[in-house]
Amino acid sequence: MTDIYDSIIIGAGPAGLAAALYNARDRFKTLVLEKFFPGGQIINTDRIENYPGYENISGPDLIEKIKKQAEGFGTEIKTEEVKKITKLPDGNIEVACDKDSFIGRSAIIACGSDYRKLGVPGEAEFRNAGAGVSYCGTCDAPFFKGKDVVAIGGGNTALEEALHVAKFAAKLTLVHRRQEFRATKVLVEELMAKVNSPDGNIKLKLDSVITAIEGAGKVEKVKIKNVKTNAEEEIPCSGVFIFVGMIPNTAFLKDSVDLTQAGFVKCDVGFLRTKIPGIFVAGDCRIGAAMQLATAVGDGVNAAMMTKQYLREADWWNQPISDALMPGEW
Ligand SMILES: Cc1cc2nc3c(=O)[nH]c(=O)nc-3n(C[C@H](O)[C@H](O)[C@H](O)COP(=O)(O)OP(=O)(O)OC[C@H]3O[C@@H](n4cnc5c(N)ncnc54)[C@H](O)[C@@H]3O)c2cc1C
Repeated sequence: MTDIYDSIIIGAGPAGLAAALYNARDRFKTLVLEKFFPGGQIINTDRIENYPGYENISGPDLIEKIKKQAEGFGTEIKTEEVKKITKLPDGNIEVACDKDSFIGRSAIIACGSDYRKLGVPGEAEFRNAGAGVSYCGTCDAPFFKGKDVVAIGGGNTALEEALHVAKFAAKLTLVHRRQEFRATKVLVEELMAKVNSPDGNIKLKLDSVITAIEGAGKVEKVKIKNVKTNAEEEIPCSGVFIFVGMIPNTAFLKDSVDLTQAGFVKCDVGFLRTKIPGIFVAGDCRIGAAMQLATAVGDGVNAAMMTKQYLREADWWNQPISDALMPGEW
């Protein structure tokens, strides 16, 4: 007979492992399915300074601790890429992988997102804040205190992050491929006030794209090209912040839960419920995610707490947030 898990978690990043820790500690039969190896995006960094409780810890070290903790309470982790999830007529959820299928009474989608890449020479080589290429200003800006940096992008996140990084950098050059920014007016005004201020440290390179990131061992300069004149230029810098969007790993979900146009899983952000009863979502793949380690972990915990309520009383699913019992009231 097929084992029925109480909770099946898709993805062993910070959100998935935190959910597993809580589910398994609540004595639920818990399975995590991970297509590569446990850790998610955070294993790509050796310096985390904004995770509460640790002044500085590497991604692999932190993940190893969370994984060990989750497994210690009985979590099973299998290397499987999930291809489809389906709600069965009996109310259970089938999670189908390449060869095997698994049945759960509930599921948590925690499949994360990937930073959109520029695809230019040098980007992959220096992809690590220590070497100079970063995709997260909130995470890495302090590492570039007093240094010259280049940022790329023109949307809301790009401008918010560039303004944040500029508080640390000696000089920030923002490269954008168009003349106008897509970001909201208020952010553009804030940016332009800094650009036009005599003591501001932000410079613009509009109608321009990065063509290469270069250096010996770490970033020393970027090459840019003006898309209108084809003029080329080099900008010396120690860091490159790439803010050109996120791609959620959700293509496999398109026939099940609702996705936004950009591919993020839609949910009620308070309870993390998708449109399918028993299927929750957590972390960077959901609508409105803050794209941070601590918030992904918090989401995983929240989704696990909600799973507990759903498994106890399936009717809870249909209650609006305003009426449903909150965890503290159970
Ligand atoms: C280089 C780098 C440095 C960072 N530094 C910081 C920092 O200092 N501070 C900070 O707060 N944040 C930082 N972040 C962001 C942080 O890593 C993410 O916000 C966090 O990892 C999101 O966790 P998650 O579990 O939601 O998703 P992810 O970490 O993306 O994990 C998702 C997991 O799901 C798996 N998966 C995807 N699809 C499937 C599928 N179909 N089947 C099975 N498994 C699947 C993936 O392989 C992955 O392991 C950094 C990110 C990067 C890339």
